[in-house]
Amino acid sequence: TGLKKHFPVKNGLLRRVVGQVKAVDGVDFTINRGETFGLVGESGCGKSTTGRTVLRLEEPTGGEVVYHHEELGPVNIGTADRQQLKRLRPEMQIIFQDPFSSLDARMTVGRIIAEPMVINRTHHGRELRDRVAELLTVVGLRPEHASRYPHAFSGGQRQRIGIARALALNPKLIVCDEPVSALDVSVQAQVLNLLESLQAQFDLTYLFVSHDLSVVEHIADRVAVMYLGKVVEVGTTDQLFYSPKMPYTEALLSALPKPDPRKRTRPTLLTGDVPSPANPPHGCHFHPRCKYAQDRCRTEVPQLRDLGGGQLAACHLADSLELKGAEPLPDVP
Ligand code: SF4
Ligand code: MG
Repeated sequence: TGLKKHFPVKNGLLRRVVGQVKAVDGVDFTINRGETFGLVGESGCGKSTTGRTVLRLEEPTGGEVVYHHEELGPVNIGTADRQQLKRLRPEMQIIFQDPFSSLDARMTVGRIIAEPMVINRTHHGRELRDRVAELLTVVGLRPEHASRYPHAFSGGQRQRIGIARALALNPKLIVCDEPVSALDVSVQAQVLNLLESLQAQFDLTYLFVSHDLSVVEHIADRVAVMYLGKVVEVGTTDQLFYSPKMPYTEALLSALPKPDPRKRTRPTLLTGDVPSPANPPHGCHFHPRCKYAQDRCRTEVPQLRDLGGGQLAACHLADSLELKGAEPLPDVP
């Protein structure tokens, strides 16, 4: 609720603070238990920072993250005490984008996966080895892989190792930060399918951060679109992809590949670069790139508002525009 994360901008030579980057600037959303909640937007929109702030890997500048713990009830992560955090932390894990840099090259795969259990003292000796073997099997690797080092594995296998480590403490919520973006397209589907089957098997909830709309369409139940530190649209995946209410969502969707090349239309090109989050445009942040922009868009900030059916959008014209969604994919027989 109202989540903010601002970073100081320092002057190079004097290291004086000369401004603020509002990476996350008042973000509201709810993730329901058991769902995959997609968070999409162009790079630099604040989606990864949002994911990290939800886990309190970054201290929020403002707003709050409330986690509903089965026994403790709702806990504000920003003000939780040490005892509470000790119980919450294992339940909230992260899978990183780059499986090549996120695993310590000097540690065996077994140690990498065992580490969270060693730190939290949940397993020892024989039990720990058995648990590592079990986790390797769960992610589609083999127990004997425990004695090898990360360099012996492909990108997809390394991401499986990262997933095994994230599962070690029986988490409930996993932030997946671009988990397949560094992988070959052929491997992406395998890792996405693995994430889906693990979700069903272990009753997991995912916050799935990605710039890739095709991936999000495949995996997410609901989606939030971010632009320059703000959520500009939220809805079910179908609402968002097939009846978007915010011009920025429409523009993102227009870049998706078309199922039927004969019906290919000219994409609503996203002209111009993303403005700097240190100095965002007045009014609607999207107005310099929006083909529907009117005078009020340049001065009045549109609020995220409920349009019915669980869909929310931050656009002055959300009720009147007829925006174009993605083309439905053909049914695979
Ligand atoms: Fe475009 Fe105006 Fe809507 Fe912003 S508020 S998306 S500028 S129409
Ligand atoms: Mg990122």
